[in-house]
Amino acid sequence: MKWRVMLELVGADGIVGVHEVGGRAAVAEYAPQMIGLTLEEGKHLLAALQVHLVQAQAEDQCRHRRRCQRCGAQRPLKDQRSRRLVSLFGTVEVCAPRFTPCRCAVTCRRTLNPAAEIMPDRCTPAYERTVAKMGSLLPYRRARTLLAEFLPLGKPQAVETTRQRTLRVGARLEQEAVAGAGSKPAVATKSIALSIDGGHVRAARQYQGRRGSFLTILG
Ligand SMILES: [Zn+2]
Repeated sequence: MKWRVMLELVGADGIVGVHEVGGRAAVAEYAPQMIGLTLEEGKHLLAALQVHLVQAQAEDQCRHRRRCQRCGAQRPLKDQRSRRLVSLFGTVEVCAPRFTPCRCAVTCRRTLNPAAEIMPDRCTPAYERTVAKMGSLLPYRRARTLLAEFLPLGKPQAVETTRQRTLRVGARLEQEAVAGAGSKPAVATKSIALSIDGGHVRAARQYQGRRGSFLTILG
């Protein structure tokens, strides 16, 4: 038996786009490792699905935003760029056209960049959250290696990029916590984990316990 996985995308106009995202050729005999999806096949499927989905969504957004809401005309194309989106299922490059204001020039006077509107941080919120969470538990390089074992992350980003991303998510969560503190009662946190990365903290006396590099505060 041979099999293949097809992705069907149906636009608002009813036009259907079909893409093959994975499959396997027929075999005469099965072996235990050939039953179901292999890890590599699963990662490949997710990556291929993500490429088609993200590119189609970006095109959809650009098509929708190009139309002037006031007069219905198409906004003139200013230039054609590309934008890269980092996600848990790979890095996808999309076309990112920019549009100048409509000639009726009432609803919007600025240049529109629809792809930037939906990809402001150039990475998905899920990627940002997951990497930040893992980065708080493990050294950054190990966190990424572990994620890449199961997810088609693609080409590794610089460790500094991951570190900056973790710090940015932390700052954002802190801002949200401060902003929300005045409006609703504080919810007790189950636990706070704090890791000290890349070194050992030697215990004061040998008999008092083992040497540790991980400190957990429960509150
Ligand atoms: Zn217009």
